[in-house]
Amino acid sequence: MGFKWTIPSGAPSRARVLQLACCAVLAWAWLQHEPVREPAPLVLTPVGAGTAETSALSKADEFASTLDGSAGAQQAALGGSMALGLSTIEVIVRRNDTLDRIFRRLKLDLADLASLRNLPGLKNGLDRLRPGEVLQLSHRDGTLFGFERKLSPSETLQVVRDDTGFRSSVLENPLEVRERTVRGVIESSLFEAVAKAGAHDQTALALAEIFGWDIDFVLEVQPGDSFAVTYEEFSQDGEYVKDGPVIAALFVNQGREYRAVRYVDPSGKAHYYTPEGRSMYRAFLRTPVEFTRISSRFNPNRRHPILNTLRAHKGVDYAAPIGTPVRAAGDGRVIFAGRKGGYGNVLEIAHSRGVVTVYAHLSRFAKGIHKGQKVTQGSVVAYVGQTGLATGPHLHYEYRVNGVHKNPQTVELPSAEPINPAWREDFEARAALALATLDPPPGPALVSR
Ligand SMILES: [Zn+2]
Repeated sequence: MGFKWTIPSGAPSRARVLQLACCAVLAWAWLQHEPVREPAPLVLTPVGAGTAETSALSKADEFASTLDGSAGAQQAALGGSMALGLSTIEVIVRRNDTLDRIFRRLKLDLADLASLRNLPGLKNGLDRLRPGEVLQLSHRDGTLFGFERKLSPSETLQVVRDDTGFRSSVLENPLEVRERTVRGVIESSLFEAVAKAGAHDQTALALAEIFGWDIDFVLEVQPGDSFAVTYEEFSQDGEYVKDGPVIAALFVNQGREYRAVRYVDPSGKAHYYTPEGRSMYRAFLRTPVEFTRISSRFNPNRRHPILNTLRAHKGVDYAAPIGTPVRAAGDGRVIFAGRKGGYGNVLEIAHSRGVVTVYAHLSRFAKGIHKGQKVTQGSVVAYVGQTGLATGPHLHYEYRVNGVHKNPQTVELPSAEPINPAWREDFEARAALALATLDPPPGPALVSR
């Protein structure tokens, strides 16, 4: 397990950064890579091929060539250089949805949809979408590279793009997904308890990420804390493959109960919310850098170490080696990236709700960072340095609300966006179903009453 749980005390946000990084890597791997499908002996049926005249022998040959060709194409599309910038979206079909609507909603090329429909024998496989079914689409800048749809429990239609255009095949016996609910009580660590309950590290990491804003998994989780989690488990031919996303979860920390539910919005994005529809995440990271120690706290009456004058310290200094990555505390837009007196190289990011975050004494900016650039929470925007008036390498970090400096260590961080009102009804229906899976099964105590 490459994940470190033993993080020095006093650095919960460092744990947070680690969690985010780990989860991002897992999520990326999950979205980009489909290793589980390749090694398994799959039978591929070319859709539309194999007419009545085809003999058994030539049909078998066709199977073999499709297997090679399709696997190669899939590898090229998903594993090779073409995979750069490829995004995979899972779409849950709504009532009255059509592929045409879905393509328009996701801003995918409609010419690609026409090409799909023109593939021999494919029309039936594309029509009559069932509400609630899941489609998987891979694209780059709106150009379709892959399409997957489960035709039946045992067959999946797969279309991939190669040099000559789209190729389709039907995968038989694909990955099986089932929802599992496990529950446990922490004795020593979350990982151990999750493993004991029958789930795996991915699920432990997911729990730490989902509840990581409310609960400090390094300092606050203690023996007796408990959890219940419903997640997807993937298997093939009855063999376990991996834990999929968490659907709903409950965590009781020191007697306080937290619940979270996953919601995939109509654009295919998944977020975690409280049962009431508030985001489980905060709009800002508590600290934007992995630091060794706080070298100077927020202090309105501080004597400046170099100027030796009374000068308020309107931020927090995090000591860190030169070159340590500095992350955007929240989604926003760069409003200044350059040199400014005692600040040295400084970056200023404007966020919603009138918040501006400031990162000073930087050695340099990350690639592509300039005024006007949009940044996302957790992305690397610069590197720690010692430019301007600085006694040693550190990040000076400020958090301003409508121009007023707040203490970054204690300021109340706003939640990320709540559920979109347009999706509220749908969210409530789905969330209720998902959260109900966490209820304990009726036990013998109920029966005997
Ligand atoms: Zn400072």
